Amino acid sequence: LVELRHVEKHFGDLHVLKDINLSVRKGEVLVVLGPSGSGKSTMCRTINRLETIDSGSILIDGTPLPQEGRDLTRLRAEVGMVFQQFNLFANKTIIDNVMLAPIKVRKVPRQQAHDEAMELLARVGVDSQASKYPAQLSGGQQQRVAIARALAMHPKVMLFDEPTSALDPEMVNEVLDVMLELASEGMTMICVTHEMGFARKAADRIVFMADGQILETGTPDEFFDHPRTDRAKDFLSKII
Ligand code: ATP
Ligand code: MG
Repeated sequence: LVELRHVEKHFGDLHVLKDINLSVRKGEVLVVLGPSGSGKSTMCRTINRLETIDSGSILIDGTPLPQEGRDLTRLRAEVGMVFQQFNLFANKTIIDNVMLAPIKVRKVPRQQAHDEAMELLARVGVDSQASKYPAQLSGGQQQRVAIARALAMHPKVMLFDEPTSALDPEMVNEVLDVMLELASEGMTMICVTHEMGFARKAADRIVFMADGQILETGTPDEFFDHPRTDRAKDFLSKII
């Protein structure tokens, strides 16, 4: 469903992505691990074209990433993204945050967008907050709204870039639980996270990055119990 082939990316002199090859099947949950600065966020951002690439190719469902215009808007709908910062529209209510893009981009009639948004908010457990503003919600609630908002576009794949690292510890699990449920429903997901418990439970495959390269790919058991590279062993010894 998502395929990266020989992807290269520089920021000036910094070579942030080095020959990245990755393919994610439909329904697969991929967890990306790696030390800070290894290029995890950059890789995620290239997949919905928030970052350009220097060479190589990225395909979503067999179609190369569009460069601009209307096709790019469609791509952003197909690839949902949830960031560390919740990025909700502060001056819009929760329900409006979720309804906005379906109405504007997918041209869904208002009433239908409203009903779908309420359903999604119920699914992530924040439907009782629908008429409030983002600032009135806890971080965990806001992040669940951000997930509902991405789902409202009926994405083919969901990208999560450290969705829980800005949260107070007691709110981390409520967001991970929503992600686990999505995973069990068959959503294709690429998750950058430092939550090793989640990685073990949810991941079909772990990708370990360091210095802009994918150093290891394997099942959670393979990666956590038998890391092959010194970088991965070192990473795990610091984290667990
Ligand atoms: P973290 O775990 O800290 O989030 P990461 O693996 O997500 O790290 P990236 O954010 O992808 O790492 O960054 C990879 C490298 O690219 C870092 O050295 C970072 O400083 C650099 N970098 C990221 N974005 C830019 C940018 N827009 N311009 C220049 N350098 C950048
Ligand atoms: Mg990052």
